[in-house]
Amino acid sequence: MTETAGTYGTEFFVRWLEAVAEAVEREADRLTELDAAIGDADHGANLRRGFTAVRKALEEEPPTAPGAVLVAAGKQLISTVGGASGPLYGTLLRRAGKALGDDPQVTRERFAGALGEGVEAVSRLGGAAPGDKTMLDALGPGVEGLKVSFSAGRDRAGEGAAGTVPLRARKGRASYLGERSAGHEDPGAASSALLFAALAATARAEAADGTRTDGEGAA
Ligand code: ADP
Ligand code: MG
Repeated sequence: MTETAGTYGTEFFVRWLEAVAEAVEREADRLTELDAAIGDADHGANLRRGFTAVRKALEEEPPTAPGAVLVAAGKQLISTVGGASGPLYGTLLRRAGKALGDDPQVTRERFAGALGEGVEAVSRLGGAAPGDKTMLDALGPGVEGLKVSFSAGRDRAGEGAAGTVPLRARKGRASYLGERSAGHEDPGAASSALLFAALAATARAEAADGTRTDGEGAA
């Protein structure tokens, strides 16, 4: 289906999650190394398992709306990832998907709003706030950036993840280390930055395809 200028349909969101699965595959060792430093060295494997299941589910039962893509993906993450990150990422995507309802096309701004609701749900579920050295430190800025452009979302999430290095963890396994958690990037913040990088890459690829006429994704 052709996209109306300025809106994104089901296919776009499927391509985004496929791009996330590829990025997780590529970066699994780095994510696991980050988790080895301040956690239990399973973050790469956790997400790899989760996004492999997401991919399979989207192939086997293709959803028919952007919101349904996100809800289906969230469900897979919750049921297949053993670690803390599974329910948290699952909640992020499910809540965002529910906020989109069954609209066939959504704007970037609307998606940013829906993802913002997802971030709030993650914060409620995990009890973490910005600055606690968790995925929220990349997700929050990423959503703020996404309100402006896909590339700003990628850049802000990346900066947020890098900004977790000096922080002391106050939530999750890394908090058991106290002061010793400082000096390392949070693995969940690093994987959250991958979500936004994959989103910007997907938007850019679509713009290069010539399917977009509104300049979105070109930055
Ligand atoms: P586990 O900690 O169970 O081994 P993972 O290694 O897959 O799970 O994920 C760890 C990441 O999850 C952390 O780096 C952090 O970003 C995120 N995380 C853990 N607990 C919380 C929480 N309460 N709120 C938000 N994010 C959290
Ligand atoms: Mg872990």
